[in-house]
Amino acid sequence: MALTNLAYRGFEVWVPDLPKEIQHQLYGFRNFKGSLVFGTKPKGWFASTWVPLKTFRVYADGSRKGDRNAPVVLDFRSGIIRIRQVCGNEPRYVVEVPMPKWVVGRISEGGDVKYAMIGLKDNEPYLTLVAERVVEQYAPSDYILAVDVNSWRYGIAWGLIRSGKLVTWRAEGPNTFLINTLYHQAVDRERVVGKLRRVGYGDSMKASRIREQAKSRRSRIYRITRDKAYFLASKLVRKAVKYKALLVIDDMTEESRKELLEEKLPPGVIKLFMSNLRRFVHQLEALAQWYGVPYRFERLYSTVCPKCGHELTQVEGRVMVCGNCGFRAPRDMVPMHWAIIKLFGKKHLF
Ligand SMILES: [Zn+2]
Repeated sequence: MALTNLAYRGFEVWVPDLPKEIQHQLYGFRNFKGSLVFGTKPKGWFASTWVPLKTFRVYADGSRKGDRNAPVVLDFRSGIIRIRQVCGNEPRYVVEVPMPKWVVGRISEGGDVKYAMIGLKDNEPYLTLVAERVVEQYAPSDYILAVDVNSWRYGIAWGLIRSGKLVTWRAEGPNTFLINTLYHQAVDRERVVGKLRRVGYGDSMKASRIREQAKSRRSRIYRITRDKAYFLASKLVRKAVKYKALLVIDDMTEESRKELLEEKLPPGVIKLFMSNLRRFVHQLEALAQWYGVPYRFERLYSTVCPKCGHELTQVEGRVMVCGNCGFRAPRDMVPMHWAIIKLFGKKHLF
């Protein structure tokens, strides 16, 4: 991805493990189109390499941009992407696919899709559109939006801070009851499959049906956390834009993992509660860049006393208490205190 990105910005890029003659032709897609015909077994190098393709854009108002002969045509008037000659090596061979909604959204926000990348994803041909735009970050107001990436068990904690004072804060996450239920349903089914296997019925219709049920429950949990990750990233970036806030992100999830381990949750459950957190941070960062939100990463602790630096102890109701100075706050609020300290200094807080 990084290399193709550079290639289309005019840098010379040498892709490792590519035969020399192909390297030389990387920029002129036309010359090696024969190797990219879909439906045939892809060449070994193509399986792991994504090839940048130029695009030609026809906008809703009829204006055009890009190379007229580009193999990928984005037609916003008819909402269709035409892939010319890539999927079949004959003149005028065109595959049409519907324009994804998000692309239309990005274009209306002033973005552009200068190139696409084509490669294999899960062994299927896959076209990735690369939307980009030049955005200036806004100058932050006196607001700060602090985001502490917790686990899905207690959700992602965010706090809106104004001039060093915490205005609102809360933790948001998916329905953990549903996740728990689905998890236990999956585990029960996996146990049944294990029993069937041990008595020699591992390949039976019944076993494969139950195995499918377990699998579908696990992927449903994964989808729940993924959708929540996208939803929250978008919500928080919109909030930052609304207040022209500086976005402060703590993406250290080790403390959360430790907390879940201390609760003696099964490793399988912990894994699910930690799933898609990386995706959340990545999406948060990508959206912040897209909308020009100034952001930075800061270590925001939830187990260190913001007042005296002493280690905090957790008591009933996820309340953190300092044995040294008596500081006391809900666990999800502690990182917000740290955000204030890191950006305004201690005097603002105590
Ligand atoms: Zn303390």
